Amino acid sequence: MQFQYIENQTAIANHLTETIDSGRVAHAQMFLGESSGGSLALAIAFAQYLNCQNRQHYAQGGPHGLRADSCGCCPSCKKYQELTHPDLHLFFPNATTDSVKKNPSSADFQTEFREFLNARKQKGTLEEWYDFMQLDKKQGLFRERDADDMIQILGMKSYEGGYKVVVIWMAELMNGSAANTILKSLEEPPDKTLILLVVENSERMLSTIISRTQLVRIGGGVSDEITSIHVDEFATLYVTWMRQLFKLNMMSLSAWVDSMSEKGREEQKGFLQFAQESTRQCFLRNNAGMAMKMDFGDEKFNTSFPTMITENNIERINNAFDEAIFAIGRNGYAKIVFMELSFRISKALKKR
Ligand SMILES: [Zn+2]
Repeated sequence: MQFQYIENQTAIANHLTETIDSGRVAHAQMFLGESSGGSLALAIAFAQYLNCQNRQHYAQGGPHGLRADSCGCCPSCKKYQELTHPDLHLFFPNATTDSVKKNPSSADFQTEFREFLNARKQKGTLEEWYDFMQLDKKQGLFRERDADDMIQILGMKSYEGGYKVVVIWMAELMNGSAANTILKSLEEPPDKTLILLVVENSERMLSTIISRTQLVRIGGGVSDEITSIHVDEFATLYVTWMRQLFKLNMMSLSAWVDSMSEKGREEQKGFLQFAQESTRQCFLRNNAGMAMKMDFGDEKFNTSFPTMITENNIERINNAFDEAIFAIGRNGYAKIVFMELSFRISKALKKR
């Protein structure tokens, strides 16, 4: 899958291709987001771009404003698009069926899984997968054989000399031996291997796994249109907000919260995603020593604020954003959501 065929995820796609182009590919990453929003599609597009032999860069902005994309026609891309690349290994929850009566593993259902992915533009949900497999009431899992296969794959060289990529969809359903296998390879990463955990609910993941992966947060697919229209306004709102949180100025903060809670749900969610991503970028600039262009339209803020976001508070802030975005998506009472988030961030900023 090329990035251009994934709708409404331009910002994250641009971030992903940038990490590859600048040679900063973390060997284990957790793509956190709804499957229906394209989290698995993005993971596969990411792997395809990594292995593409003729990456395309768009100086003037490509389709939907993409900065780059895989070519879609080199031998590696072709195999990726058919999901048959020998260095792409797909794992997913599975169970016994009419044709596989005992001891099932992902290896038994590769054809079915490809069909399923193709039929739904790689955005199918777990429920749809179970329906597709006609599992009725059975729960899919990763069992012993999946763990054995993972060990074998992680221990071998790539077939074609590029990166071998292990994608585990709905990785939060891993337990026991599968989880331990992954944990072990996260601790001692094999050479030229990329492990992509595609996860909908991070609360079900072992914290030891989470702490060893780089988080890629996939938004619910806010339309690019909304994002681009509001981006200047969002930057101004963000600067004002962060200044209030730093000083914890209650009077102006509560006015800010009031004005936010009058906005529509989509705009609130769009702003929160913008703010979360901005904070993450501050952390990266501050901690990875990366020369990133930060432009919030305020010189003083551009230089001073990123230093506030450190490894001591980024996780806390990120989690607070995750929960607020989730709450807004579930029609939580906006005033309370924004106020609670404000207090959590304010507290975290003091722990830098
Ligand atoms: Zn290519």
